[in-house]
Parts: sequence; structure tokens; C-alpha cells
Amino acid sequence: MAGRHRLVAGNWKMNGLHEDGAALARDLGHRAVAAARPGGEPLGCELLVCPPAALLATVGPALAGSGIALGGQDCHAAEKGAYTGDISAEMLCDSGCSHVILGHSERRHGHGETDPQIRAKVVGAWRAGLIAILCVGETRAEREAGRAVAVVAGQLAGSTPDGAAPETLVVAYEPVWAIGTGLTPTAADIAEIHAAIRARMPDGTRILYGGSVNPKNAAEILALADVDGALVGGASLKAEDFWTIARACG
Ligand code: PEP
Repeated sequence: MAGRHRLVAGNWKMNGLHEDGAALARDLGHRAVAAARPGGEPLGCELLVCPPAALLATVGPALAGSGIALGGQDCHAAEKGAYTGDISAEMLCDSGCSHVILGHSERRHGHGETDPQIRAKVVGAWRAGLIAILCVGETRAEREAGRAVAVVAGQLAGSTPDGAAPETLVVAYEPVWAIGTGLTPTAADIAEIHAAIRARMPDGTRILYGGSVNPKNAAEILALADVDGALVGGASLKAEDFWTIARACG
């Protein structure tokens, strides 16, 4: 684990209006500030929240001084141009982001994003100085066909640009069938995939697990040797739940 500081990231997806986002961010911020005070209980991880792009300008200021990082949920590969509805990595950076989630299954499967497109987005994120959180994961059918490792390995090979380094790339293993379903792989299955990812990435790369992480299962998942944190969807929308998950990092 040496050198792999844990990261717990909240993916708010398309949830919340300005007032909700500000309230959630302020709640988390207060907890983080209190934990870091002398006599507080410091967290054993970095915290990141990734609100919808429309809320970045509200959530960023609400987190100010808390040490909680801000991230985007996706970006376009290009710096600017005629791409209606898209957002560039530079725009995320300009809005206070340090990270961006890329290749989430809701982008791969919901928007048909391919490995080469995701790879280009990672390059775009790096160009702007953002840390890319690259998501990979198999579908239920792929797992049942015994292809989980091969699928994840293929996604990694296809969407990781040359020059990946632990400072610029975090991998999130998110089995598609576990996202938002309340289902999770067994500890042995998570360990197998994380070890396979570790073997293919530069030393020191952080590998998060994502998919129905909640306050009850977080401690068991986060105790696994190659799990360096969590990418949390639904449970990141409640400050208490997200905080409990972060606390499970020890
Ligand atoms: C996600 O969308 O990245 C995710 C892990 O969602 P959930 O925690 O809700 O399964």
C-alpha cells in the first residue's frame, strides 16, 4: 500500500439542484474540517466529489477550505469547438476540478463510447492537468461467460494512453451489473480483477472498486489488498453514508 493514498470518490450522476448540491457539499465540508482539526479523527483517505457539471460553480465554493476535491463526470477530448452539449477538460479545470471520471459504464453502454474515444478523453484530461479516473468493468453476461478478466484487460489496453502514471491516472473497477443494483461481486472476485489490473498498470496506480458500495459493505471491500478506495454512486448522495464509507478506510 505504501505510496497509494486511498481515495473515496462520490459520483453524484445527474442528481440534485443547486440547493441540494450546496447543502451536501457543506455537510461533507464541515465533517472534513472537523476531522482534520487537532483532536479530530483524520480520515485515512482523500475525498472527491463529482457533481453534475451544472452544479460545479455551486459545489466548488461550498467545499472551499475543506480539502475535499472536485471532479467532473465526463469530458470531451477536444479543448474547444463545435461540440454542442459537451464540456472540455479545460472547462472542468477552470471550474475548480482536479479529477474527471472517464469511461463510466453509463457512458460506455448508455452513450456507446468506445475504448479509442475514452483513450482520447484521457489524453484531453491530461492536457488540462486533470487526473483521470478510468472506469472499466464487465457486464453480467461477460462475467457468466468467464470473460471478466479478459474484458477488463481489453478495456484497459484500449483506453489507457501511453505515459500513464499514478499521479495522472486512477483506475476504477466497476462491474456493470453491480452499479446501482445492490449487488456486489464476492471479495475473491474483486481481488482477482484488482490483481489483474495491478499487473497491467504502472507501480503505484490506485485502483478503486465501484458498484453498490454502501456503509454496510465498505469495510470488507476496502480491506482487500489491492483496493485503494471506492467510487460511490447512490450512497454518495447522503452525507452520512458517504462519510461512513470514507471512515471505513481506517
Ligand atoms: C457508479 O455509478 O459509479 C456507482 C458505483 O454507482 P452505485 O454506487 O450507485 O452502484
